Amino acid sequence: MMNFNTIHQAVRNRFVRLTPGQLVIQTTDRCNATCPQCSMRVTRNFKRHSLDPDLVLKTIDTAPSLGIKAISFTGGEPFLLKQHLYDYIERAGRNRIPFIRTGTNGFFFTNSGKPGFSDRIRQIADRLAATPIRNFWISIDSCDPRIHDQMRGFQNMFDGISKALPIFESVGIYPSVNLGINRNVGAALTQEISRDDYANEPAYEKALCLAYGKAFSKFYKTVIDLGFTIANACYPMSIDTDSCGLDPVYQASASDRIVRFTRTEKKAVFSALKQTIPKFRDKIRIFSPRVALHALIKEYNGESDTSYPCQGGINYFFMDAESGHTFPCGYRGQDDFGRFIDLDKSFQPAGYSCRRCDWECFRDPSELAGPVIDLVTAPHRLLKRMFSDPAHLRLWAADLLYYRACDYFDGRTPPDFKKLAPFKTDSL
Ligand code: SF4
Ligand code: SF4
Repeated sequence: MMNFNTIHQAVRNRFVRLTPGQLVIQTTDRCNATCPQCSMRVTRNFKRHSLDPDLVLKTIDTAPSLGIKAISFTGGEPFLLKQHLYDYIERAGRNRIPFIRTGTNGFFFTNSGKPGFSDRIRQIADRLAATPIRNFWISIDSCDPRIHDQMRGFQNMFDGISKALPIFESVGIYPSVNLGINRNVGAALTQEISRDDYANEPAYEKALCLAYGKAFSKFYKTVIDLGFTIANACYPMSIDTDSCGLDPVYQASASDRIVRFTRTEKKAVFSALKQTIPKFRDKIRIFSPRVALHALIKEYNGESDTSYPCQGGINYFFMDAESGHTFPCGYRGQDDFGRFIDLDKSFQPAGYSCRRCDWECFRDPSELAGPVIDLVTAPHRLLKRMFSDPAHLRLWAADLLYYRACDYFDGRTPPDFKKLAPFKTDSL
């Protein structure tokens, strides 16, 4: 016989699945970049895989019946298979998926000084604009162009990006910059700071927060100057597989020091980002929700039950390039759901309780959806949170208002700076 907790969990899962679902499809693990923070870098020797295009198309056809409203095509480098990529995006559009995203490491922005660069970019921009893509991201790892080029293994990327952005905008695509947070983000500002130079942990945390705050400011200024109008931040994916029981199938994580942060360091980095965002969000549409950063900071401060559980495995899924199978996310390789096309509505999702990593693709939207899920399935919990952590609800409401002012980060429309202006003063 089912007890109350089991019934409650089942009701919760059912309601969670009524909120917009998300599917991340790793089309390939091939990449042409050398990023030290990623296990898919071209210099690593392992057998590469790309998904069978027929399986991807069938998966996209199945997605709406499982409540999927957002599909991201990721890699590796998705544009290494660009003909297939365009087909996938078009198929998602035909299936009325409203939020379709993909991105690049920017390899086609090299050689911007050579003849034919603008024509080459225009061809890509025109082709992409003819698809129903909603968001197109370009990843950047440092505010310093020299360090970014060194990490990627490409040359003069910032020049190429600044020349390419107006071409994309002229056909109605407003690319987002994706900052992969790592120790090189602020160049010397963040590279040279060391625990050994501080007498104790709180002093180190304070100094780190200050350094990353300056680095994030420099980053936002740089990308605004380059011409970006939307920004997102990817939290460092340093996973301690031994202590958290994760078994990644997505090799975007690495154990390299460049993305390995201790709990204290994560607290400082997330605090710095949370404090920096309000200074720039009237100038560039910043996706990173401060409520999610607030929750993560508290989590790393040792406060329990402060963040909302992740929807990975219930309503958000990851399709792996190697096996073509579906997982709750790229990090729970032990929970293999098989092929997405074989899942149906009777599929039994994983429990709504995982907080084992900071993967922003799943954690950020889970945090934003959390209060609504609580309101319907556990109003007493919401009430308790209102009293125990009033800042959480305030930040959540402020984030939603900001999201509305940003037209929910529609990468096919320009920013409306009049709507963003009031957020300059919001320093919640
Ligand atoms: S982070 Fe992206 S661009 Fe860099 S090696 Fe990994 S997949 Fe390639
Ligand atoms: S928190 Fe989410 S993304 Fe991270 S391991 Fe759990 S289900 Fe996966």
